Amino acid sequence: MARAYDGALTSRGWSLPSFEEARRIILENVSPLGAERVPALEAVGRVVAEDVRAPFDLPRWDNSAMDGFALRAQDASAAGGLRVSAFVPAGATPAGDLAPGTAARVLTGAPIPPGADAVAPFEETEEKDGVVRFLRPVRAGAHVRRKGEDIRAGEPVLPAGTVLGPAEVSALASSSRLAVPVVRRARVAIVSTGDELVEPGTPLAPGQIHDSNAWALAAAVLQAGGVPAVLGIARDDRDALRRLLGEGLAADALVTTAGVSVGDRDLVREVLAELGVRQVFWKIDIKPGRPTAFGLAGRTPVFSLPGNPVATLLTFDQLVRPALLRMMGHARVLRPLVPATLRDGLRRKPGRVEFVRVRLERGEGGGLVAASAGDQATGMLKTLLRADGLVVVPADRGPIEPGGAVEAQVLSGDLLPWGP
Ligand code: AMP
Ligand code: MG
Repeated sequence: MARAYDGALTSRGWSLPSFEEARRIILENVSPLGAERVPALEAVGRVVAEDVRAPFDLPRWDNSAMDGFALRAQDASAAGGLRVSAFVPAGATPAGDLAPGTAARVLTGAPIPPGADAVAPFEETEEKDGVVRFLRPVRAGAHVRRKGEDIRAGEPVLPAGTVLGPAEVSALASSSRLAVPVVRRARVAIVSTGDELVEPGTPLAPGQIHDSNAWALAAAVLQAGGVPAVLGIARDDRDALRRLLGEGLAADALVTTAGVSVGDRDLVREVLAELGVRQVFWKIDIKPGRPTAFGLAGRTPVFSLPGNPVATLLTFDQLVRPALLRMMGHARVLRPLVPATLRDGLRRKPGRVEFVRVRLERGEGGGLVAASAGDQATGMLKTLLRADGLVVVPADRGPIEPGGAVEAQVLSGDLLPWGP
């Protein structure tokens, strides 16, 4: 059941939800979409919707882990060595049981002849005139990969909730199935609002700007694994808004930008309400991104993000992306926080969570040092372009002294620069 946000409940008696409250409310109000069966390579990065069980044992039979000689371990010390009675390359099957008192030449991956219980690698043997001698004691079971020791028939090799990567595709392929049930990708409708906006590629009249938010959000949706649908620009009038927002509500989620501040007479909120969207909250105690609204049309989440391009992307990243990931079946939806020190400190008052765009570097002690990526005004896209991390300052924290301990999210993924 959708839960409305009741501002009076906040611990500090404020009327706005904190960042954490807003995120929790959003995540509580979205749930995984349905499943579909897709080819393995289309499933990479997506989440397994129902347990995938192994159809047979892996390995499928006892086989050799080395190029060498298969034998009965107890025969290794036979005076005079063992006659080589068979050769089993990978891809072949042994002709029959291993003749008593003999060894079989086997290659890695080849089935062990019945009767043999160990493999001695070539490097630990000496072969001459069809007779092999063993230079070291041979332990029963040595270098034999047992049937089913890796994966047992019937075992849930990819339990529901698994995120598909190369190892998972390997498990699928070795189980001879290249299709997998995964949670659907979320289709996300994107609507920009504002009389000043025109499509990129179109000449500007005085006072106009190109709509960048729709395209930035489409890119962010793609990176999150969703399918963006850019519906276009709605003028700041009711009919235009009603048409595009109504269309957007047919998607799995609707994201709008701008038009939620007082200057815009809250038209977006009003029209969404007319279209049956129940407002859950309409402002959050965060910086940047205060005028961020969340509502529900039935089960469809509707996010109204601020218009300033930096605030648009930050609020998407912190609030919409986790929701989309959850809708697409992910259990882990939040960016990890890593400890860092804030090189130049930060002037601020306690009150709201603050996201500081930073560049992350290795400090002398090996830890991460966060340096401001530039002017933190929400109009400064350049600072976001330069940033590869976000320092997340908790609401109750006051000014931060230079070198103060902070926590940061790494935006550049998990890769480190090349070189020493
Ligand atoms: P608003 O929320 O409508 O007051 O807009 C805040 C700021 O964001 C204004 O400077 C707008 O021109 C700008 N803005 C709004 N929508 C977009 C958009 N789709 N692309 C680029 N800038 C935008
Ligand atoms: Mg506007």
